[in-house]
Amino acid sequence: MHILLSNDDGYLAPGLHALYQALLPFGEISVVAPERNCSGASNSLTLSRPLTVSTAPNGFRFVNGTPTDCVHIALTGLLDSRPDIVVSGINNGQNMGEDTLYSGTVAAATEGFLFGVPAFAFSLAEHGWAHLDAAAAEAAAVIAHYVATPLPGPLLLNVNIPNRPSRDIGDWRVTRLGKRHPSQPVIRQTDPRGQPIYWIGATGDTLDASDGTDFHAVSLGHVSITPLQLDLTDTRRSPALREWIGTVGGARGVQASNESSETNESQRLTHAGAERPL
Ligand code: MN
Repeated sequence: MHILLSNDDGYLAPGLHALYQALLPFGEISVVAPERNCSGASNSLTLSRPLTVSTAPNGFRFVNGTPTDCVHIALTGLLDSRPDIVVSGINNGQNMGEDTLYSGTVAAATEGFLFGVPAFAFSLAEHGWAHLDAAAAEAAAVIAHYVATPLPGPLLLNVNIPNRPSRDIGDWRVTRLGKRHPSQPVIRQTDPRGQPIYWIGATGDTLDASDGTDFHAVSLGHVSITPLQLDLTDTRRSPALREWIGTVGGARGVQASNESSETNESQRLTHAGAERPL
């Protein structure tokens, strides 16, 4: 089996090395990871400059770009063969609830998923690497189970592992994303030249950590496995939105409520080679 391994903490991160060691028994592993820590990078592509790929003495390749850049480059030109799976992590800290929207760890896996490769994102649920070996063993066990019993179709799994010794880690639980309160305020400081500077504040406390969520499972010591999807459409709002658009007078209202023109629009945008609408 050929595994593409990436992360968002950078190619020197202990979590990447631990996961690499744990996945070695599965076959060939291509590591393509960011040169620097890109936590919080989300699904960002670098479009304003070219990217370089360098090779570390241990064979890991690193890119002066984002996690998404790494997997994108690997899948579309760098690797000689298509990997069977994409694995991202192990992240230094949890990626649960809304964290998944900002996470570079999840983004690296997402990029694989977008190219049709089954993808896994692994995060250690607390900062620091106190029980990294245990987390790597759990991650390898998840991959081993997938290899032994593959799930059909596209797959994007977000896995959060409690920071505990192996003997204290509970069952694997299929979860849904919980919810957080909005993030803490920015921290304003003054630089040595008297200019104000801002540090992004901490994530918000949990708002929904109820039974069935990733937060709940990890708080009980279980491994949280959340299947993710990428369609952000809020289909429940569509009928009310059509009605709302219908209240606009004149040609604009008529056009907006014409569903066949929506189809034409989406077909036009899916043409290969279209300009990136960023
Ligand atoms: Mn990170």
